[in-house]
Amino acid sequence: MAVPARRTSKMRKNTRRSHHALISRTTSNCPNCGSVVLPHHACMKCHTYKGENIPTSKKTTALAQETEAKSVATPVADNKDKDKTEIKK
Ligand SMILES: [Zn+2]
Repeated sequence: MAVPARRTSKMRKNTRRSHHALISRTTSNCPNCGSVVLPHHACMKCHTYKGENIPTSKKTTALAQETEAKSVATPVADNKDKDKTEIKK
């Protein structure tokens, strides 16, 4: 097994980890149903964007139901899941 030639200094370690902080995402509430929505994204609950209805396919509705079930099971839903389920224009 390979072994590092030199011990990583505190400074080097801390400098590397300076980029590891989590960034909170900006969210807004859907004007139609009031659920939490990412800015410039359609609402996955009521399928509207700026008050306009958005046609949905079977795939997106299935994804929305899946993510809704996940968010109910785990209240601390990570934001990465929301990105995958957004409706693409
Ligand atoms: Zn909504």
